[in-house]
Amino acid sequence: MTFRSYMQIALDEAQAAAARGEVPVGAVIAGPDGVLAQAGNRTRELFDPTAHAEVLAIRAACAALGQERLTGYDLYVSLEPCPMCAAAISNARIARLYYGAADPKSGGVAQGPRIFAQPQCHHAPQVYDGINATASEALLKDFFAQRR
Ligand SMILES: [Zn+2]
Repeated sequence: MTFRSYMQIALDEAQAAAARGEVPVGAVIAGPDGVLAQAGNRTRELFDPTAHAEVLAIRAACAALGQERLTGYDLYVSLEPCPMCAAAISNARIARLYYGAADPKSGGVAQGPRIFAQPQCHHAPQVYDGINATASEALLKDFFAQRR
């Protein structure tokens, strides 16, 4: 089986989020049959501080499968997940996490709380960072430059 990255779809979701005035982050849940769910940030639209791309994608994927776990599924997200999303990824039993840009300000995977490295974390996905990171950084940089 050849590896196929779904990061471009996550980046498209990030772009769509920016167009809605949301911080440009996009996420995709993929399994053996391809994309199961995809989402972008909607915290402003939904008045919901938990409506991060990863959480929305996990919710949609679980709803589609009718189960609360995504064992064997992979998550692609354009930015390093925050601690909340990292905990959700762990609870969802995601097999592999692929993310783009590092997030020194709010990240919770490779820095800050490093959720997956904590003894209280019962499931840690395999983590692959820096996937299409430049494209993700450019989206974020443009978005915040326009809002200044
Ligand atoms: Zn998050």
